[in-house]
Amino acid sequence: MNQALLQLKHALVECHAQGRAYDVLAFMADQGLSRSPEANQKLTFEAGALQAGAAPAHERDQEAKDWVPREVALRAALERAQQSLPDPHIVLGYKKGLGRGNRSLYWLELSTETTEEADSSTHQSPPRKSVTYRRTEKGAVKPSSLVRWLMKDGEFRNMSPRGITMLLGIIIGTICWALCLAMILLGLGVSNQPLTAGSLILLILAFAGFWFGWKSLYEPWFRLVDERIVKAPNWVPALFEDPCELEMYGQRKARWTRLVRYNADCPMCGGEIELVPGRPDQRLPLVGRCIESPHAHVFTFDRTTLRGAYIGPVLPDD
Ligand SMILES: [Zn+2]
Repeated sequence: MNQALLQLKHALVECHAQGRAYDVLAFMADQGLSRSPEANQKLTFEAGALQAGAAPAHERDQEAKDWVPREVALRAALERAQQSLPDPHIVLGYKKGLGRGNRSLYWLELSTETTEEADSSTHQSPPRKSVTYRRTEKGAVKPSSLVRWLMKDGEFRNMSPRGITMLLGIIIGTICWALCLAMILLGLGVSNQPLTAGSLILLILAFAGFWFGWKSLYEPWFRLVDERIVKAPNWVPALFEDPCELEMYGQRKARWTRLVRYNADCPMCGGEIELVPGRPDQRLPLVGRCIESPHAHVFTFDRTTLRGAYIGPVLPDD
């Protein structure tokens, strides 16, 4: 067993995969290796122990059962890490806690000694084609210093003084932006000089600048009204935050705008799934893509149910 755990540990490092499932497996393997080789008892973990051992500090406050990846993602990560290793492989044992007070248990074991205790229904099942997303807690995604005054705890109420200030700022900014472009065009038009290469370059630069500014400063806020969730422009979250989303929620009278991050564990390889634009290969504006295989492991995203279905390329039958 120890030999196989050691192999697994190396394999996890060598596959260079990123994601919660891999961190959890590395923690379980380390714990198994640090035990005395004579210990006969199976080393089982509850969700809380996995979270305490493998989660980064800022994720330890979350509910443990929500933090731990689904078994399908853990199994997929194990399979991927060990695909080039000889048998026996390490497999995941999982026992669902039924009823109150009974917690789910996770453990690692050799594929040759699979015990009856594990939920046989989920054992060795083919990759599932659905994902469950997680939403960060309120205030977990820090806004940049530019908008920190506006977004207390990472959110603001649209119809509050702060919300209205922001709204007016965006509208006035957009108008000024359009006026600047109009003035450049007008300036070129009234100069009555023949169109030279220099003025043509200026024109192209003006258009490119306008387009870039519109896309990164203003357009996401306008799309937010219709789409309810968009990728946050780079200047909205703090400098060291990972990419995140802007989301509008609540009823007509009490609508809020907040900074959040959605992610999930890929059921096909255990990597991390993040929300990114669907283009060019998908028609949906926002889809979940696995960072390990962004164009093959693609899923829909529904912010109300937090579920997603596989929409990537056709999978081989076996
Ligand atoms: Zn994946």
